[in-house]
Amino acid sequence: MSSLYFHIPFCRRRCRYCDFFSTTTSDVERDNYVDLLCRHLELIHCDELADSELQTIYFGGGTPSLLTAEQLHLLLTASRARFGLSAEAEITLEVNPGTFGGKYLQQVRQTGINRLSIGIQSFNDQQLRQLGRCHNADQARAAVTGARAAGFDNISLDLMFALPGQDTDDLDREIDQLLQQEPEHISVYGLTVEAGTEFERWQQQGLITAVDEDEYARQYELLRARFSAAGYEHYEVSNFARPGWHCQHNQRYWQRRSCLAIGAGAHSFVESGYGERRHVPADLARYRQLLTAGVDPAERLESFNRRGAMIETLYLALRTSAGVDPVAFEERFGESLQRAFPTAMARLQASLVCSGERIMLPPQHWLIYDHLIKAFF
Ligand code: SF4
Repeated sequence: MSSLYFHIPFCRRRCRYCDFFSTTTSDVERDNYVDLLCRHLELIHCDELADSELQTIYFGGGTPSLLTAEQLHLLLTASRARFGLSAEAEITLEVNPGTFGGKYLQQVRQTGINRLSIGIQSFNDQQLRQLGRCHNADQARAAVTGARAAGFDNISLDLMFALPGQDTDDLDREIDQLLQQEPEHISVYGLTVEAGTEFERWQQQGLITAVDEDEYARQYELLRARFSAAGYEHYEVSNFARPGWHCQHNQRYWQRRSCLAIGAGAHSFVESGYGERRHVPADLARYRQLLTAGVDPAERLESFNRRGAMIETLYLALRTSAGVDPVAFEERFGESLQRAFPTAMARLQASLVCSGERIMLPPQHWLIYDHLIKAFF
């Protein structure tokens, strides 16, 4: 199984909390960028993907819904020609409700894209304005309705929590509204105030106050309780899904499987050896320069040794309800979990559970996941 990620680093305007690499652009610049992506596809090399057709493609950003359906079609056609594309492939597009209207989602569905990840974030217009989102709650609801009408049966909704001034009653109302949309999948993001953002400046000026740890914990537990009661599986720290609707693409990250990434600012992972991470500089001018010169713009970011690969395997697997398969781990690394990590395994004995042939950290511990996982470092 192989995967491809396209990074679309453009946004209509910058949200106040966001530190991702993205820029505002013109239609012409986006057209040029799509040409560069096609060139990047031709130049990228990966032995592991050479013999297997793509099973997942993900358009992330930034705001990929700023691309036209024609541009998306072009990229899918180029991907199919370069690697082959399974008829059952999961093909996801991240969409921002403030960036499209009319028949856009119908045209997108006709390209073969079969999964939408809609960046709703909140159903509260005041919160959306504070976040600097370029849409309101009515547009968010209309996006879901439009997606269903266009034939999408696999929809993921993003919801933020721990927003400045938000309490559990506010979040409870947000959850009610989100559940009314009946998504197949939900991703939740607790706000953290990142360096260099407008929110950081506002915080320094006392205009906003981040919620404290206790409130954050109460909100996370509320999300878990409400979504579980509504029939969603909490299958990764920040992700919930109806049974059978887990995100196939993201599962590959957590399973440490190869995923090639195309675009300025994109990160690839290649499984060969103990694994290697590659990175394309988040610099559009350099991206253009290298591709125009016929050079693959990816740079090696990190090459894993055996110990590093073992730690990362656990770090990613224990974020998920699937956990880790100790037999597969030993086959892969030639050493059992207990032998490789005797102190950490003893320290986490009370938290880890065995179910069938797997070892996992149950979701009720995920709130303190970052603290627990330090035992392996
Ligand atoms: S739309 Fe997404 S990527 Fe763009 S600024 Fe807002 S949060 Fe960041």
